[in-house]
Amino acid sequence: MIDRIDALLPQTQCQRCGYPACRPYAEAVAGGVAGINQCPPGGDEGIAALAALTGKPVVPMNPVNGVPITQSFVAVIDEPVCIGCTKCIQVCPTDAILGASQLMHTVIEAECSGCELCIPACPVDCIAMIPAPQLSMPARAPQFRHRYEQRERRLARIADERRNVHEQRKALLKARAAASDPSEAPSDPVARALAAARAKASKTP
Ligand code: SF4
Ligand code: SF4
Ligand code: SF4
Repeated sequence: MIDRIDALLPQTQCQRCGYPACRPYAEAVAGGVAGINQCPPGGDEGIAALAALTGKPVVPMNPVNGVPITQSFVAVIDEPVCIGCTKCIQVCPTDAILGASQLMHTVIEAECSGCELCIPACPVDCIAMIPAPQLSMPARAPQFRHRYEQRERRLARIADERRNVHEQRKALLKARAAASDPSEAPSDPVARALAAARAKASKTP
């Protein structure tokens, strides 16, 4: 059911529903903890589709979440004003912003879902939304989902790599401490041998 609900959502990943992305909202609807009327990009058609799928009655959009969106927008950066802080890249759910620290940033218009999450992130207010040439919902939902999932995988991989580096550093420090204090020696014979070898190497001029 979660997959079927998710398949009906526009995938802009805009968080207007009150959830961090489309998939968590789909999970909440499937679990009965969120209404079917919380997705402004999906509009009235989205509510009707969710009602047909879940058997719930059609209701108006919840005003807490906004009004149905009938025009798509894309972000554009006033590039000479950009200070290269990378804050917009960090929040863009579809990796639609190109740039690097201290360098000008730019939006890849074709990948922008119009989520508007970059607007409040920019400290110098140099991002604006302009009308997109065509309505991106729901036709481009698969593209936005794909971009979002790719980004999530990349962030998870980076987090894993950082965790591994941290663990290796911890193990190295422990081995060094054990080499200088025998009471701290690791019980694993391989780790003990490694620590001894490192200690020997560090004493060699
Ligand atoms: S498009 Fe936005 S409001 Fe709709 S489900 Fe996805 S994140 Fe929520
Ligand atoms: S560029 Fe801005 S509006 Fe476009 S997808 Fe990224 S965060 Fe959303
Ligand atoms: S948040 Fe604003 S100033 Fe910072 S890199 Fe993005 S566009 Fe430039």
